[in-house]
Amino acid sequence: MQLVDSHCHLDADAFDIDRKAVLARAHAAGVRHQVLPAVTAASWPKLQHVCASAPGLHPAYGLHPMFLAEHRPEHLPLLQEWIERESPTAIGECGLDFFVEDLDPERQRFFFQGQLTLARTYQLPLIVHARRAVDEVIQRIRQTGPLRGVVHSFSGSPEQARQLWNLGFMIGLGGPLTYPRANRLRTLVAQMPLEYLLLETDAPDQPDAGIRGQRNEPERLAVILETVAELRGQTPEEIATQTTANARRLFGLTPL
Ligand SMILES: [Zn+2]
Repeated sequence: MQLVDSHCHLDADAFDIDRKAVLARAHAAGVRHQVLPAVTAASWPKLQHVCASAPGLHPAYGLHPMFLAEHRPEHLPLLQEWIERESPTAIGECGLDFFVEDLDPERQRFFFQGQLTLARTYQLPLIVHARRAVDEVIQRIRQTGPLRGVVHSFSGSPEQARQLWNLGFMIGLGGPLTYPRANRLRTLVAQMPLEYLLLETDAPDQPDAGIRGQRNEPERLAVILETVAELRGQTPEEIATQTTANARRLFGLTPL
């Protein structure tokens, strides 16, 4: 069984002490590819280095909305240079976060829109973070598109999910699914067309219910897979086959 962790921050400092072991455990759990989205311009060189250190690690370069304080307008032309030079797998992590206070919405919009435009220009998939902002994300994708990508750690309604699918976007789901109280998400994953689903861990963040409060790891993708299979009444193999095909299609990954 081959799995793709469509969203993992393996370059994060939290993995500096044991990154090789984390990768080996992920591999043993069937995780053959990981897409690593960036958070700030300052993080791009390390991300590039980590991705070059082992097969199956794919960088996305971008400016994460939660790190707004570190972004500067000149980071957008710098991102364009990195895209041209590095031909990354995707652009991201970008988006809008209206949940966290002290993140100026107008500055967020400036950087998000800049990255939407770059994705359109270079025809690259987008990795989008949308918290309390799904409607505006949909609206901006519609206005800037055609675009394709994934809204990761999706937390919207079934209707919002449908609008995203119609615009060429998938949804990424991970740890939050494993919490029994996540009724809306669990119902969505049980009923949605599997062709729009990507599995993700968002490690080291968003630990599943079994490792609550601990550092998350890409090997936990196996737990996400089991949860999706259980909720849909399908075998893990069926879910793995389809979601891996989805990730390959979106990110242009070749089998390892
Ligand atoms: Zn993330």
